[in-house]
Amino acid sequence: MGSISISLQDFRDILYNPEKTGLDLYWNETQNGGERAFHSEIGEDFVVEILTSIPVKEYYSRQENDAIRTQIRNTETGEIIEAEPHTKRTQGWEERVVSKIHALIDCPEEDDSDGEKRISNGEYGRYYFCTNDNCDFIQSLSK
Ligand SMILES: [Zn+2]
Repeated sequence: MGSISISLQDFRDILYNPEKTGLDLYWNETQNGGERAFHSEIGEDFVVEILTSIPVKEYYSRQENDAIRTQIRNTETGEIIEAEPHTKRTQGWEERVVSKIHALIDCPEEDDSDGEKRISNGEYGRYYFCTNDNCDFIQSLSK
């Protein structure tokens, strides 16, 4: 299957529509490594980020086979702390990108279907917590 051309507006149409994403995230348009990106802060110095494969000075994706990347990054150090497999620019890419964002930030607790992971900094270092007040999920980021 050949790759399809994707525009910046295609990304906006999905990400800015909570009904399509099912996510409680506010997106900023930014850039990273010469390509357009969207990111959403999930903690101090941490973003969930989508690298669009659209060059900074253009509005459409490159002709080559560049893929869309979805990751959580430390904006202070640049370190990528979690990443999903690349999304090829083929039919159905929208759903695949959205499901990868969910894979990165959905609360992993089985009985919590709408909580999202956020990152905070505590006495023992950085950790994930859940946006759902009734959920006890906590996971350390320290290695
Ligand atoms: Zn939770």
